[in-house]
Amino acid sequence: MNKVIIFSAPSGAGKSTIVNHILSKHPELEFSISATSRQPRGQERDGVEYYFFTADEFREMIAQDKFVEHEEVYPGSFYGTLKSEVDRIWSKGHAIVFDIDVQGGVNLKRIFGDQAFSVFIQAPSVEVLRERLVGRATDSAEAIEKRVAKAASEMEFAAGKFDYVLINDDLQTAFNEAEDIISRFLIR
Ligand code: ADP
Ligand code: 5GP
Repeated sequence: MNKVIIFSAPSGAGKSTIVNHILSKHPELEFSISATSRQPRGQERDGVEYYFFTADEFREMIAQDKFVEHEEVYPGSFYGTLKSEVDRIWSKGHAIVFDIDVQGGVNLKRIFGDQAFSVFIQAPSVEVLRERLVGRATDSAEAIEKRVAKAASEMEFAAGKFDYVLINDDLQTAFNEAEDIISRFLIR
C-alpha cells in the first residue's frame, strides 16, 4: 500500500527537528516538496525546499486541478501539494512525509484516510513553546507572540483530529517515540 505520514504542529513545537531526524533514519521515506507562490527566502532553491511559482501560475494550476490540496496560508501566498509530487515519490516505492500546518494536516488525513498516519507534535506547555521560539532566534518578539497565540487555537482545533499526539519534552525521548510509532505504521 502507498503510505503517507503527516506531521503537523504549532510553530516552535519541534516539527522540523523531529521530521529531519525521522528522514535521516528511514531511507524509504521521502519529504514532500510543496508548491508555493511566496518568494524564496535566503538560500532556498527551486525544487529543494519548495517549487516556486507566481500567484498567476499557481491559480492556473488550481484551475487545471493539479493539486491534492492547496491553501492561501497568508493573503496572496498560496501553498499546496501537487498530484505530480505524490506520484513522483510513490513511483519510487517510498512513503511520503508531509510537514504541513495544522489545517493542511487535517485536510490530508481526510483525503488519504487509512493510507495516512497523522502526528500532531506539541510542546509540553505554551511557556516552553515561547522559550523555544526565543531560543531559535528566527522571529521578532512580536512574531513570537503571534505564533504563541496561534498555537493555543491550533491545539484546540487539532484535538481529536490526529492519529497520534507526540509531546516533545525531552528531545531524545521524543525521537524514540517518533521512531517507534513510524516503524509500527510502516510494517502494518
Ligand atoms: P518547528 O519546526 O515546529 O517550528 P523547530 O524544530 O524549529 O520547530 O524547533 C524550535 C526550536 O526548539 C529549535 O531551536 C529547536 O532546536 C528547539 N527544540 C526542538 N525540540 C526541542 C526539545 N525537545 N527540547 C529543547 N529544544 C528543542
Ligand atoms: P513558510 O512560508 O514559513 O515556509 O510556510 C508557511 C506555512 O505554510 C507553514 O505553516 C507551512 O506548514 C505551510 N505549508 C507549507 N506547505 C504547504 C502545503 O503544501 N499545503 C498547505 N496547506 N500548507 C503548507
